[in-house]
Amino acid sequence: MYDLVIKNGLVVSGARTEAVDLAISDGKIVGRLSPGTGIEGSQTVDAAGMHVFPGVVDGHCHMRDPGRMEREDFWTGTQAAAAGGITTACEMPISIPPVYTAEIFRQRAETVQPRALIDFALYGTAGYENLDHIQGLADAGAVAFKTYLHPAEPGREKEFTGLICPDSASQYEAMEAVARTGRRHCLHCETNELVGLFTSRMKKTGRTDGRVHSESRPAVCEDASVALSLAMGASLGASLVICHMSSAGALQLVKEAKSRGVDVVAETCPSYLFMSDDYLETFGAYAKNNPPLRSEENRQRLWDYLHDGTIDYIATDHSPWRPESKDGGIFVANSGIASFDMILPLLIDAVNRGLIGAEKVASMLSEKPAEVFKLAQKGHLQPGYDADFVLVDMSGTFVFDKSKSYSKAGETMKAFDGMKLSGRIKSTWVRGTRVHEDGRTAADPGHGRLVTPR
Ligand SMILES: [Zn+2]
Repeated sequence: MYDLVIKNGLVVSGARTEAVDLAISDGKIVGRLSPGTGIEGSQTVDAAGMHVFPGVVDGHCHMRDPGRMEREDFWTGTQAAAAGGITTACEMPISIPPVYTAEIFRQRAETVQPRALIDFALYGTAGYENLDHIQGLADAGAVAFKTYLHPAEPGREKEFTGLICPDSASQYEAMEAVARTGRRHCLHCETNELVGLFTSRMKKTGRTDGRVHSESRPAVCEDASVALSLAMGASLGASLVICHMSSAGALQLVKEAKSRGVDVVAETCPSYLFMSDDYLETFGAYAKNNPPLRSEENRQRLWDYLHDGTIDYIATDHSPWRPESKDGGIFVANSGIASFDMILPLLIDAVNRGLIGAEKVASMLSEKPAEVFKLAQKGHLQPGYDADFVLVDMSGTFVFDKSKSYSKAGETMKAFDGMKLSGRIKSTWVRGTRVHEDGRTAADPGHGRLVTPR
């Protein structure tokens, strides 16, 4: 007797979409059964007419907990994530304090777990201030390391301790330390001096339109930083992730580096795949993120790099802000777009529009990020893996209403508000437990657990 049987669904993997029933016990998939066997579980769910996608493993997100819980906390954030089909969230280390020692890592895991609806992994920081703590963080279970190549924004210094490498020498030393751990090193690649140059030029023009943000951080800023990081990564034998790639030129550099055997993974986000700088023009600071949204021509080229395998996985980079953080004009407003609710809905809609196959979505949202971060029990709907999955009605309709988001940053999600998408998430399940159904949270805080790399 199984705990749970999901019957009559079409189960999606990176390789194929198959009519199989999933048998689940103790939160794990224990069997893939031919349909029509009549086998029942203690609980049986009829998924007739539904696709069963593996739960999204979000490789990059920000919940600000503890420290800035007015922006988001693990309860509100993980509820919004579950609404978007996410079952594991890899959380960046920008809490207060930031996760720059093993002790802080353990404290943060203990603090946020009682608020987590879905499973989560935690990043550690790698910067010039915490080189001696990097191995300890890896031993404690940090899923990967994050480094910023620019100083903290004024007023945010306490959120960035241990995260910063202000020059290429310190970047090299941090990359060296992370390479010794064998974990992935995730880099925010924009050359700070060039961003400074273009931003000051744009400020002098007196422009206040949204698109000026994109012109303040043109692609050369990203391309130059990616080129330097790839060169250093190659010489160190490092395992890199280039975070939130938005420049087609930088993706070409990654493609060439991969062909030379450099161990580099390219991440991009729904914002770059579905929005051009036209959104900056329309929504101003509500469409402001870093690197910025770029031209429509660039956006279309990203899809080519997605299809040819240069882009390895898609993550939200969910970056929640209070509405007032988006005030003050395009140069002053904080950067970052909240997007937990949108990741799987946008990709399901893209499947229905013929832009991408359902199997490729399962690969890029679930299987690949689980493999990149060595989350051995996640990402696949195969026996032995955690029963993390999403029931999707491909013929349904989803209209995003920002006032209904569980995220504390829902009001800032203006660029998505009212978006009508084809396909609809029916329910999201973590380790065999329904955590979200029909727009409502369906389990209690504390269901989520910390997961660590193999
Ligand atoms: Zn980020």
